[in-house]
Amino acid sequence: MSQSHSPPETRQFKALWDRQGGLCALCGQPMPRQRFEVAHATLWKKQRPSFDHIRAKARGGPDTPENLQLAHAQCNWKKGRG
Ligand SMILES: [Zn+2]
Repeated sequence: MSQSHSPPETRQFKALWDRQGGLCALCGQPMPRQRFEVAHATLWKKQRPSFDHIRAKARGGPDTPENLQLAHAQCNWKKGRG
């Protein structure tokens, strides 16, 4: 009974999720918390919550909770490209 498609429910994930109320930090729309909440694996890949560094690691941003937020994987990619 593994749940390999679920994001790791770490303390950090929960803290950020509660802080943001389940909303994407970049677009403000709700994020699915579990794979079964979306119809297709493709959608899940795009919409799953992912950790985003507010100040990019490449620019010296730390791995602290203050510098992390949750965003749709897709929003995270767009931000990375932009
Ligand atoms: Zn988003």
